[in-house]
Amino acid sequence: MTTSITALTFDRERDGWERSTGLVKDRVPMPSIQSPDEVLIRVRYAGFCGSDRGIWWRKAFGDMIDSSLRAEGRTRRVVGHELLGEIVEVGAAVTARFGLRPGDVVSTESHLVCEECYQCRVGDRHVCARDRIIGISADGCFADFLVLPARALWRTDVEKIRPEVAAVQEPFGNAVHACQATPLAGRSVAVLGCGTIGLFAILVARGMGARQIIGIEPDAKNAELARRLGCDAVLTPASPDPARPWASDATLRDAVLDLTDGVGVDVAMEMAGFNSSVNNALRVARRGGHVVLFGVNNGDAHVEDLHRVVMNGLQLHGVVGRQIFGTWEITKKLLEDRSNGVQDAVWEVILNRGEGTMVDIKDWERGAFEAVIRSNPKALIRFAG
Ligand SMILES: [Zn+2]
Ligand SMILES: [Zn+2]
Repeated sequence: MTTSITALTFDRERDGWERSTGLVKDRVPMPSIQSPDEVLIRVRYAGFCGSDRGIWWRKAFGDMIDSSLRAEGRTRRVVGHELLGEIVEVGAAVTARFGLRPGDVVSTESHLVCEECYQCRVGDRHVCARDRIIGISADGCFADFLVLPARALWRTDVEKIRPEVAAVQEPFGNAVHACQATPLAGRSVAVLGCGTIGLFAILVARGMGARQIIGIEPDAKNAELARRLGCDAVLTPASPDPARPWASDATLRDAVLDLTDGVGVDVAMEMAGFNSSVNNALRVARRGGHVVLFGVNNGDAHVEDLHRVVMNGLQLHGVVGRQIFGTWEITKKLLEDRSNGVQDAVWEVILNRGEGTMVDIKDWERGAFEAVIRSNPKALIRFAG
């Protein structure tokens, strides 16, 4: 039996949060099932998330990693939470309780919820008060194998969803959840920030029947991807004014009004997290429109003209994670239904058919991988393939 496996790790003593960047390719002990509800999974593909970028450049999640490691009396965390893998062993209760067996192919919900807090009991598990996140507060999937609770797993049919796309169901689900905040059929939608989740949101909004989609994106390469995914228009926002970094862009607002008969969009989806982008979202939404806030930035933000937000009757939605498992059901339908072109667009446009976006763990090398994540919205790591 294998006693050690390859994994990408952060170690709070070896690396130190303040004095390092990146992850270390390492050998770690083979994990084993500890409870009757757990499952051992062989990882086939793992996706590299925006939050993994936050860990890579030490911008986010340091406190959560540190406090969870201290609570476990350990120093090293296996990172990663976007997964496609195969079950190789199940705990004693798994098959009877969850219907999962060795050989099943699964992805996973990355938020491990408590099932006991108020939110969990009323069905709002995505905002569980005591959740743990795989690859941050529990060991993750940048590894040959990992152990997870069976109730977090999502069985996936790789005859219907190709495995490389199935590995990104979790971040695709973020976009689905954002698009569930308000009905999009027949609506005009602006997506502010066309990084990975914004690009997914363009596809989801189309799949859900939006009549007009306007991308707003400063980066030329991402803007081109947004066009290829079918945005009706892609606009470039002005760079934030250093003296007023929160300020919205009046030229951008006018351009959106021009595209919407002077009305503004029904739904503005903020997926960048910059303060100026939040104000742009509030400005391009029509009176009575919806503003979906998904982009994350720590600390205080400046809201322009709060009076207008109230008097225009804007409806604001903060979106985190995925509805467990309602969002996964919609994700499955959008990806399995080949007639909508969504799965093919994820593979061909966002993942570039794996060319330059996929790295085999055997060849993984820190500097080369950093170049991959710098130049692509989504990178994949192949483990068992
Ligand atoms: Zn993620
Ligand atoms: Zn809970």
